[in-house]
Amino acid sequence: MLTKLRPIPHDELGRLAAGAGPDSYAAGMLTELRERRARDEQVFAFRLGEFIVIGPTPSPEEELQLTLAYEATKDLKGSKALELITDADVVEMVGEPDEIITEAERMRARRWICSTCAEIIESADPIPVPAPCKRCGGIAFRTG
Ligand SMILES: [Zn+2]
Repeated sequence: MLTKLRPIPHDELGRLAAGAGPDSYAAGMLTELRERRARDEQVFAFRLGEFIVIGPTPSPEEELQLTLAYEATKDLKGSKALELITDADVVEMVGEPDEIITEAERMRARRWICSTCAEIIESADPIPVPAPCKRCGGIAFRTG
């Protein structure tokens, strides 16, 4: 079934933007809508699948073109997410990291406990996470 273009009432986009926060996709689209309206453009917000489209009310032909373009590319987006996702994509999705920890700065402890089998690994000097666990192969450890 084709994904239909659906008008979004202005107050609904406002609620979406308020709920998602000032840096969200919805807030960005609301800003674009307001700026274009301020220039006296007769534009509206539409939802197309997971996208928000800002533009004039499309003719039936334009609506069909948009719908077909969306249908043709939505499978591509899925494979990009799996195969071509980069650090830059991750930063775009969740923002800059608060802190980057190098290998040398990773958490060290004298005593690690395997979260799966409770095997205890002790060392005279602090060591990084001793994963995988020699007993069960688990990778989750806690200090204690
Ligand atoms: Zn274990």
